[in-house]
Amino acid sequence: MSQRPYIVGNWKMNGSRAMLSEARAVDRAAQRYPDVEIALAPPFPFLGSVREAVTAIGVGGQDCHTAAKGAHTGDVSAAMLADIGADFVILGHSERRRDHGEDDALVRAKAEAALAAGLGVIICVGETLEERDAGTAEAVVSRQIEGSVPAGESAAVAASRLAVAYEPVWAIGTGRVAAVEDVIAMHVAVRVRLAAIFGEEAEKIRILYGGSVNGENAASLLAAPGVGGALVGGASLTADAFLPIVAAA
Ligand code: PGA
Repeated sequence: MSQRPYIVGNWKMNGSRAMLSEARAVDRAAQRYPDVEIALAPPFPFLGSVREAVTAIGVGGQDCHTAAKGAHTGDVSAAMLADIGADFVILGHSERRRDHGEDDALVRAKAEAALAAGLGVIICVGETLEERDAGTAEAVVSRQIEGSVPAGESAAVAASRLAVAYEPVWAIGTGRVAAVEDVIAMHVAVRVRLAAIFGEEAEKIRILYGGSVNGENAASLLAAPGVGGALVGGASLTADAFLPIVAAA
């Protein structure tokens, strides 16, 4: 894989206008890391302001609707994200699957809408602790890939605009990071599923790891074969916590 490592900060439902200064600090520092692709996904109310405040990093949403517009109170369309200059959208995060009952079919429909709007897409997958303990982690993640990745897209679109984030649910926000061997094994499994869908172009799809990534553990995770970057939650909320992860890439 020749692409730059992709380090994405997911602010989740955190932040305020004051956090614009953190985005600016990340953006300024980004010039020092031309070999890393850096992005932030702030909550919708701050997305436009972050977009206007930064130039060197990508900016994305944390969800979108399947429709381009219409009577969907409280929702935001991929076209709107594209219109304000967002580069990508995170879809199918386990917190959305949990809080909003999103299933694979919905995630796939959202991904299709986002790609049609010209956005990049990061599709999140990952097993629960019960599933890992039961030995079904790879089967669960493979099923999520098959169900939520937009298989009808051309391999070229997938290769250039699709990323997958493997985020074991039990590792998110818990401080409990997955073992590097397990991350490597799962990334291989994800790559095999993607290759079954998109053929050899799947080699170019970046597979990120997410779940309690921080400045201390980032280097070993990002050095693991097949790991194309990181999706970072808690440690993306300040530039001081986020930039060591960028530096480790
Ligand atoms: P975390 O979140 O880094 O706080 O564990 C990762 C994520 O959910 O993307």
